[in-house]
Amino acid sequence: MLYRFRVIDRLPEKPSEAATRGTLVHAVLERLFDAPAAERTAPRARALIPGQWDRLRESRPELVELFADDADGERLARWLSEAERLVERWFTLEDPTRLEPAERELFVEAELASGLRLRGIIDRVDVAPTGEVRIVDYKTGKAPRPEYAEGALFQMKFYALVVWRLKRVVPRRLQLVYLGSGDVLTYDPVPADLERIERKLLALWEAIRLATETGDWRPRPTKLCGWCDHRAHCPEFGGTPPPYPLPLAPAAPSPQGRMGAD
Ligand code: SF4
Repeated sequence: MLYRFRVIDRLPEKPSEAATRGTLVHAVLERLFDAPAAERTAPRARALIPGQWDRLRESRPELVELFADDADGERLARWLSEAERLVERWFTLEDPTRLEPAERELFVEAELASGLRLRGIIDRVDVAPTGEVRIVDYKTGKAPRPEYAEGALFQMKFYALVVWRLKRVVPRRLQLVYLGSGDVLTYDPVPADLERIERKLLALWEAIRLATETGDWRPRPTKLCGWCDHRAHCPEFGGTPPPYPLPLAPAAPSPQGRMGAD
């Protein structure tokens, strides 16, 4: 249902403090590598925050509403100091003076044999002198409990699949850096993992395609619903979705049953 609201209905969403702080921290970590290795220190990273926040506001004027009611600037100051804390924590997890990323904020796109096109932006790609590739993603939230690690790795395996299809190299390591909790989650994929992800993506896309044609989208409530901007439209919360903007094909039951596409 969330996919429908975002992609098909294109309902607007309010900027959130947490997501915007994530964007700011990512920008700081990316820009820090512009400096020579020895100068990539925590104070330097902290000093980048105000300038990157100005740039972000210039490129996304809607962010102004985030702190519009913060007359004394107290909430903004707290928000900025939390960004500082996240940036500082990174230095306890990785040492940027010893890293020379091959790529930062790398846009990747690959087409699978089925014609399905995958694209994404990878926070950092490291390439060892041996040619081994490490894909790194920063998260400003906390690491998931071990039983939920698979979900967190899905995005990384997605990137690994795109890189594999694009460059014919299976990345040696996938690394998630959780600045919120100070954890690093790694996974070393093998081709069978990526083939499995490819099959999963094809099934997911088929479910999306079918739901797009029939308009049969369903809510899949999780605890993240609390942060969803679309509860007022979501049947799960007694809401009514807007009129469907696409022509509808008659719904037909899928042989495997429906997948929740949220
Ligand atoms: S409220 Fe929950 S179930 Fe409904 S669209 Fe948002 S995330 Fe999906």
